[in-house]
Formats: sequence, structure tokens, C-alpha cells
Amino acid sequence: MSQGQLFVISAPSGAGKTSLIKALREQMPDLGLSISHTTRPMRPGEVDGQHYHFVSKPTFESMIAEGAFVEHALVFGNHYGTSKAAVSAVLDKGQDLILEIDWQGAEQVRPLFSGAQSIFILPPSREALRERLFGRGQDDADVIARRLAEAEREMQAYPNYDFLIINDDFSQALNQLRCLFESARLRTPRQAEKERVRLENLLNTPKKT
Ligand code: 5GP
Repeated sequence: MSQGQLFVISAPSGAGKTSLIKALREQMPDLGLSISHTTRPMRPGEVDGQHYHFVSKPTFESMIAEGAFVEHALVFGNHYGTSKAAVSAVLDKGQDLILEIDWQGAEQVRPLFSGAQSIFILPPSREALRERLFGRGQDDADVIARRLAEAEREMQAYPNYDFLIINDDFSQALNQLRCLFESARLRTPRQAEKERVRLENLLNTPKKT
């Protein structure tokens, strides 16, 4: 069985990445999503083993020492990493896999998986980003400035990605994302394996009667 395709998706917070991926997986339920390890504290509503594997810093460090990660990075002061086990469990079954990781992780993954496709999602404007990050809330000026600066730094990585989606209209962005995943499945080597019997039938010289 051929391996599944790896997709890396990055975006600044406020671009709508998580909602897009959730909607995409509702349309394509056989798409795998890697569950990362993190040292970040759990947020209300998050479930260990579902949103992340929440681990202590010593545990994370010993996993680094054991070579358990495909990639790992320090993001906003917390460690995040994709384990080799999380990746191979899905790809080896022939399923496609999404890594929802930051630009530093994407840089580590590209040389390891030459067939990986990377997608960057941007918000439509600075105003929309601000609105999505802060709504009409009363965050103080320092918090706003820091989060906007973090988003700006992440967005600078977009030229290194294979595809760029602007999430202005949600359903259009979702369609565009889906097109990328659908087209990967139509690549000739994958089709040749999936449609082997049909192709044999089509290409065999018909038997003489
Ligand atoms: P959050 O804490 O808001 O869920 O995620 C913060 C950032 O960490 C996001 O940009 C997210 O894509 C990134 N991230 C989540 N998991 C991983 C991972 O395993 N590796 C890397 N490099 N970044 C990750």
C-alpha cells in the first residue's frame, strides 16, 4: 500500500485555520490530523489526547532526547512537537495527514518529507485580523500589540509555502482547501494503485474469440 500524503498547514492565530480544518475533515472524514505534544497549559474545554497530548517540560525534553519528534518548536514560550508515532500511525495506513503546525515546524518537516505539500492561510486584512483576534473585547493595548506582532512574524513565512489561501469568505476558502486535498488524490501513482484493476482491464488487449 502506498503511503498517504502529508500536508502542513500554518497560519497566524486569527486566520481561521482551526475552523477551516474542522470543516474540511467533516467533508473528508478519512483525513488524519496529527495530535501534537505540548507543554502549554490546557485551556477550558480542551481534552488531553484529543486536542493535544499535554505533557510536562521534563517529559517533553526527554522525548526530544529520545528522538521521538519529527519536529518541535518553541511557540509563544511553550514547546510543541509532532511525534514520529503520530505521523507514521496515519501515513502507514495510506491515509492523508494534516500537520497543523507553525512555520518553524514546517521548515523542519520539508526536508524530511519531500512529497509534503504546505499551505499557508492568511486573513484578508489587518483590520479583519484585529477583529478576529480581539473582537469587541477590552484587551489592553500591550496584549493587542504583542499578539499582532506575533501574527505579523508568523505571516512573514508565507513565501516558503506551496499554496496560499486568503480566508476572506469562509466557504470559498474551504473549497480552495478541499481542491488541494482532492487534487493530491488524483496524482497518477495514487490513481494507478487505487484503480489498478480498472486500468488493467482498460489496457489489456481484448482476448480473441
Ligand atoms: P495553540 O496553543 O493556540 O493551540 O497553538 C499555537 C501555535 O502552535 C499555532 O500556530 C499552532 O499551529 C502551533 N503548533 C501546534 N502544534 C504544533 C506542533 O506540533 N509543532 C509546531 N511546530 N507548532 C505547533
